[in-house]
Amino acid sequence: MIPTVFHPIYSQLPLPATHRYPIQKYQLLHQDLLQRGLISAHHCTTPAPLTAADIKRVHHSDYVEAVLTGQLAKAAERRIGFPWSHALAQRCLISCGGTWQTVQQAHQYGISLHLSGGYHHAHHHFGSGYCVFNDLVIAAQLALDQQLAQRVLIFDCDVHQGDGTATLTRDNPDIISVSLHCQRNFPSRKAQSDIDIPLDNDLDDRGYLATLTEVLPWALDLYQPDLVIYDAGVDIHQHDRLGYLKVTDQGLLQRDKLVIAQCKQRQLPLAAVIGGGYAVEQQELIPRHRQLFIAAEQVWGNQQ
Ligand SMILES: [Zn+2]
Repeated sequence: MIPTVFHPIYSQLPLPATHRYPIQKYQLLHQDLLQRGLISAHHCTTPAPLTAADIKRVHHSDYVEAVLTGQLAKAAERRIGFPWSHALAQRCLISCGGTWQTVQQAHQYGISLHLSGGYHHAHHHFGSGYCVFNDLVIAAQLALDQQLAQRVLIFDCDVHQGDGTATLTRDNPDIISVSLHCQRNFPSRKAQSDIDIPLDNDLDDRGYLATLTEVLPWALDLYQPDLVIYDAGVDIHQHDRLGYLKVTDQGLLQRDKLVIAQCKQRQLPLAAVIGGGYAVEQQELIPRHRQLFIAAEQVWGNQQ
């Protein structure tokens, strides 16, 4: 069974009824995967929160303190898109702890999947687009600090550009940022990743998979990472509320299988997070996020 990471707090954030963030998707996904036998309670770990010191390895100290103590300016809070609460601060620490746990399990077992994560719009001293702390970069940095890896590649397939990841890793040759994203989408001002692949609106399965097939082996050959952190955002889906691409459920499965198989072939530990995915009816997101777990099961079979 594939080792996974989940915490109930992911869906326990008090939001106004009209808020468009799909906060229930985490627990809905967890239930769905358990019921289908795609994950098991025995192989699903509950992460501990990171400490403020861990977060400060990547983010500005004043920003971290402001988030943790509820001192964010209103404009900063609006840019994040969530009203501040103790639950929000705790959820951020645990989500980042979850991605770090996933990285550690990937290092140990070869692959691990996180039922949260992908907060790639969080920058050094501010958050944006529902992202407070950048779990991807923090986990990569901790992996370097603890010598689980010498060079980490963050492979971001969420429909939105990983702009926070790009700015946070700009001067760090040991963390490589690769972003495949819809060009005409949030953020309007793109940052510069190590590799950016801007995609046109309405790209379908065929076009998307052809691009991925070309980019991923090239990036892995070029940078020779010894750990990959994969953002498997499903907002590239044809029915996503915020994406403009036309990828189907089947396309998501093929994408995830491709990434997982490439890493497995190269014996590269792979830590994956579910990333973005938006719908009014949150239940609609579950089959989309489920594809990552099916893909891992199909590629890794009974080897876990
Ligand atoms: Zn997104």
